Amino acid sequence: MIKYFNYFKKKIADVSLRQMVEIPSLPMAVSFTFDDVPKSGFVNAQKVLDEHQIKGTYYLALSFLEGRSENSDLYNIADLQHCVDQGHELACHTYSHIHLFETKENKVIEQDIAMNKQVLEALPFDCEFLNFSYPYGEQTWQAKKVMSKHFLTCRGIDPGINSGQVDTYNLKAIRLYENFNPLETIFSWLEAHQKNGGWLIFYTHDVQDDYSKHGCSPAYFETVVKKCIELKLITKTVAEVAKTLHLSKG
Ligand SMILES: [Zn+2]
Repeated sequence: MIKYFNYFKKKIADVSLRQMVEIPSLPMAVSFTFDDVPKSGFVNAQKVLDEHQIKGTYYLALSFLEGRSENSDLYNIADLQHCVDQGHELACHTYSHIHLFETKENKVIEQDIAMNKQVLEALPFDCEFLNFSYPYGEQTWQAKKVMSKHFLTCRGIDPGINSGQVDTYNLKAIRLYENFNPLETIFSWLEAHQKNGGWLIFYTHDVQDDYSKHGCSPAYFETVVKKCIELKLITKTVAEVAKTLHLSKG
């Protein structure tokens, strides 16, 4: 029952508070994005991106920063510093990775993203969150209303290429989950992007040999990166695409 209730919450959000933007039919860009982000997303995935001079977008829930939680596999300030030094984008994913389907009060959402911003601003480098991704893909009307005030774009988890008239507060994305999307599936998305244009956003979590069901191996990740290069596709961070589209906060 709750599942259906959440489904309708998301559907209502999907059709509300839209920021519709025309995405050009020329192949605009491929973006590599990471959620949470497990340490291997910095260490292993970033190594591949850096080797090929590609910039990624890291949607951070800063409660996962080492020293702020009991979890293992946490990134540290040096990982973030290195990420910024290499020109990657740091973006917002709430502070405590909250379940937005269960968060009724705007105030709670506001406080949580303010906390993420505050922790970021206390770090020893100059950085600002411009873009957001919904934890668990849980988009609600309320969350969308709050996020649209603070961010240029919001990325969800609905699969597809962003082309034609696109709601930039509900960007589609393709999972780089090795067990879910075999390389042939990913290649067909890249070929569709090359042929039909639009903005193709990938997302994943951990990138390691013993990857989780929400991640992939470094070899899989590198194969996707190399395919982009082989197909001569443009790669950009979400912030770079948002700038090209002249987006502003709602
Ligand atoms: Zn997440």
